[in-house]
Amino acid sequence: MVKKVLSPRKTVAKLKAYDPGKHAVDINLSANENPYDLPEELRAQVVKVSADLAFNRYPDPDARDLRAVIAKRYGLEPGNVVVGNGGDELLLSLLLAFGGESRSAVTFEPTFSMYKILCDVTSTPCVTLRRRDDFALPEAVADKVNQAKGDIVFVCSPNNPSGNLATEDEIVSLLEETDSLVVVDEAYEEFSRASIYKLLDTYPNLAILRTFSKAFSLAGLRVGYLLGSPEVILNIKKVKLPYNLNAFSQAAAKILLANEDYFEKVISEILAERERVFNAVQALPGLEAYPSFANFILIKSERSGPELWRKLLSKSILVRDFDGAAGLENCLRVTIGSPEQNSALIDVLANGG
Ligand code: PMP
Repeated sequence: MVKKVLSPRKTVAKLKAYDPGKHAVDINLSANENPYDLPEELRAQVVKVSADLAFNRYPDPDARDLRAVIAKRYGLEPGNVVVGNGGDELLLSLLLAFGGESRSAVTFEPTFSMYKILCDVTSTPCVTLRRRDDFALPEAVADKVNQAKGDIVFVCSPNNPSGNLATEDEIVSLLEETDSLVVVDEAYEEFSRASIYKLLDTYPNLAILRTFSKAFSLAGLRVGYLLGSPEVILNIKKVKLPYNLNAFSQAAAKILLANEDYFEKVISEILAERERVFNAVQALPGLEAYPSFANFILIKSERSGPELWRKLLSKSILVRDFDGAAGLENCLRVTIGSPEQNSALIDVLANGG
């Protein structure tokens, strides 16, 4: 007899598995990764530390060493920091701790898709408010969040995929005029150099998400962290899996933070390339580039976005097609790559974009 498989929870039945849109290509400008892997000297340090790890032992569940270094970077205490298996895991933990059926979250679309997905996973009702035409947060944003009765507000700044920042005034208005837990996602902050972390001193209802996946070239090792008041951090610790960040990743992230000078140089190069790509795209007829404070640029085509995406793919360049998303008709998001990769992108765009 063929046995039937148990159906999943009702909320899960409705979901689709996440599709990162991966294709085997020569030039991958689709995932906002750093185009440069770790340089030899840093890689050697990371490899060396792995040689000394006790593979038979569980990692430090509190990641004390790494949290201490992160806390120091911001002038905070370790009790203001929790680390996770990428920022994504911390978003999930945050919703497990503070979301659920009786709570509601607010997002400002278009934005990072994981907020809505993880709301669905955790059965947290999600109200999606629209950004303005230039992707700024809606006017009177705190009033709108109050009308929506938002318990948790996700503000992505710089916003993925549009690249613009929320203003500090907007964030302060959310912190002052709502009772929500305000989550500011600074995954791309190193490319904007505009962190609002100092507001943590004043506002216990603020949480800031950061990641090593972008500026720090560490997407493969999955390290993210959340900064917040001890109450926020403590409750996230209650729901996170005990050994969520493996020993190797903890050690590697610590090494990278001791070598920030190297990353500063890489970031400066990416910023210069961002300007070059932006200007090149703006000069092309039929394409509009949105000003960006991140390591990617959103481009809108007057013609078919999906067609342009296919054309780029046919030249072995992968970018992210956002055509299906509300407010992003015919839009592509291109990650800033190495100068050669960016030149290849510009060439294809110039010849039929
Ligand atoms: N926030 C934003 C806005 C992102 O774009 C990403 C990565 N795509 C993340 C958080 C999570 O990154 P990670 O899980 O790699 O730390």
